[in-house]
Amino acid sequence: MPDELLVLGSSSAIATPTRFASAYSLIVAGKLFLIDCGAPVSNLLYRYGLDPLDVNTLFLSHWHIDHVAGLGMFLSHNRILKRSHPLNIYGPRGSQGKIRRLLASSFMLVDDMGYELNIVNIKPGKQYQEGLLQVRYFKTEHLENPKAKADFGDKAIACGIVIDGPGWRIVYSGDITSPTELDSHVGKCDLLIHEMAHVQPEAVADFAATAKIPHVLISHLSPEFADAPEKIVEAFAGRYTGQLTIAEDGTRVAL
Ligand SMILES: [Zn+2]
Repeated sequence: MPDELLVLGSSSAIATPTRFASAYSLIVAGKLFLIDCGAPVSNLLYRYGLDPLDVNTLFLSHWHIDHVAGLGMFLSHNRILKRSHPLNIYGPRGSQGKIRRLLASSFMLVDDMGYELNIVNIKPGKQYQEGLLQVRYFKTEHLENPKAKADFGDKAIACGIVIDGPGWRIVYSGDITSPTELDSHVGKCDLLIHEMAHVQPEAVADFAATAKIPHVLISHLSPEFADAPEKIVEAFAGRYTGQLTIAEDGTRVAL
C-alpha cells in the first residue's frame, strides 16, 4: 500500500454541514500519524477504516481551537480503550502545559493515562525523527500580531510543518497571512497543503506556480470557498499548471 494523506477535516473555524475543522491522517509504511486535531478524529478514523489506537504520533500546528478541539476526546478515548503503547505529540511552545491542563480540567493526569504520553514542545528549525518521518516546524505570521502578543505573550506561536517521508516531501502551511511566508520551506516539495481561510486563491496560485510546486491541496476552506470551490479552480486556471486538488472531508492523496 502506498503512503497516503487522508483529509479528516477540511473546514476553517466556521462550521459547515459537510466539513469538520482541521485534521489529517498520514499513513507511512503502514504506520499512522495525525496532523492537527480540530475534528473528532477518533470517530473519523473509524469512519475511514482506521484505528485511533494505531496513531503513533500527532503533530499540532498551533493552539487555535479549530486545530486542537478534538484532542481531549482522542486522548481520553485512548485511555478508556487501554492503549498500551506510547503516544507522541509535537506542538509549539506551551504544548506540554496546555495538554496537562486540558486533561486536568476533565480530571485526568498526563502521567496517569495508562499509556506513555510524550509531549514535545518543538523548536522551530529543529529536525525531529519519527519512524520514517523527518519533521521540521517553521514559525508563521498567523499569531505574530500585537494583540496576540499582548494577551498571550510568546506562547502565541503558529507553525507550518515540513514532513519528509520515504521519497516524498509534504509542506503543511498551517495558518498563515500570505503564501510568500512559505518561500524558504517549499523547496523539493511534492505536495503543498495550503490553507484557504486567510488568503486569496490568486495569491496561492501565483506562489505555487513561481515555486514550481507539482501538487497543491487546498484545504481549511473558509465558508466563501467551502460553498463554492469553483472559485478556487477559476483562480488557479491560467496561473498554475500543476495538479490542483480541493479538499473535501475524506479526500485521499497517494504520496
Ligand atoms: Zn485555523
